Amino acid sequence: MIPIVAMPPGDQMMTATKATAAAPGRHLTLDLNPIFRKGILAATQNPAVAGIVRAHGMRLGAARFVAGETLDEAVPVLRQLNERGLRTNTTMLGEGVRDEATARAVASDYLAVLDRIAAEGLTTNIALKLTHLGLDLGEDLAYANVAAVAARAAQHGNFVRIDMEESARVDATLRIYLRLLADGHANVGTVLQSCLRRTPDDLAALLPLRPNLRLVKGAYLEPAAVADPDKVEVDAAYVRLADRLLTEGGFAAIATHDERIIDRVLSFADRQGIGDDRFEIQMLYGIRPQRQIDLAKAGRRVLVATPFGSHWYHYLMRRLAERPANLAWLASNLARR
Ligand SMILES: Cc1cc2nc3c(=O)[nH]c(=O)nc-3n(C[C@H](O)[C@H](O)[C@H](O)COP(=O)(O)OP(=O)(O)OC[C@H]3O[C@@H](n4cnc5c(N)ncnc54)[C@H](O)[C@@H]3O)c2cc1C
Repeated sequence: MIPIVAMPPGDQMMTATKATAAAPGRHLTLDLNPIFRKGILAATQNPAVAGIVRAHGMRLGAARFVAGETLDEAVPVLRQLNERGLRTNTTMLGEGVRDEATARAVASDYLAVLDRIAAEGLTTNIALKLTHLGLDLGEDLAYANVAAVAARAAQHGNFVRIDMEESARVDATLRIYLRLLADGHANVGTVLQSCLRRTPDDLAALLPLRPNLRLVKGAYLEPAAVADPDKVEVDAAYVRLADRLLTEGGFAAIATHDERIIDRVLSFADRQGIGDDRFEIQMLYGIRPQRQIDLAKAGRRVLVATPFGSHWYHYLMRRLAERPANLAWLASNLARR
């Protein structure tokens, strides 16, 4: 049973993360969000934080972002989203698997998820992480596992997206993606992150293949050498990359909750005559749900990424880091217990 928790506060909470410093003749507004973000992502590795959040997180609020701990719990959530005109993908939460047997078991569980999606008639595809399928143990193992999942997906006329993890995994992820395409797995796509300095080059290299790519800003703590720490720059890069992907790519999954970017992309696509066979807006389950429905009602193609599983800790921490107000919301749920 998924517990019902108070919904998060509105944007006014964001002011809690801004400090205004008065100086002679001018006001300086310091945006503390990047500091909170770094702090939360760094704290994720702390065993004490992990212990507390793992013990209480689901009751305190992980259920807002996760469609249950089991596939049985996730299926009705996916169906309800479909009934509201929303496409979905689902993910068995987990990453960083350290033994081969577990990696193979995860792949086999994904086959069962694909069979169940087909049996239930859901408009749901799969998004998975290569480190969940054994990437840290070897590229060949991860390749064999994801190829098996892609083959089963193809039998059902379904699709598999390979999520993008930390920058250290980008090369291996793109190699595996290219190998899948070369081996005839056309029903596979991956993800590029606008925060990474390398991404314009990666996009340029992939475009001749007319790829199916999801574009995101990037959810990981990255060194400044590889990722731009300036959010304004990351947002601007997103728009540049989105324009190029929309005009030259095969399919563009515009994955963001950023209203300005969504509006910009929709008007750009309309002006260029790019239809929903070429792009969709993607958002995460539990974030801006009314906007997801409104976009679908307005005739836009929208996909809601809807994960499930008991290994929700890292996923939840990334969602908290994206918006400091979420941390205050979690804390208020704790105080209310
Ligand atoms: C479908 C999907 C798939 C993704 N896959 C990947 C992936 O494979 N690899 C990867 O690195 N990252 C992935 N991400 C995460 C992404 O990189 C960003 O961390 C995340 O989307 C937040 O950035 P934003 O584009 O929404 O913009 P932001 O500028 O961070 O947010 C814009 C606005 O959206 C709202 N918002 C954003 N995040 C939250 C939140 N957690 N809680 C509440 N409100 C929020 C707020 O109103 C905020 O002001 C994915 C995101 C989506 C939507």
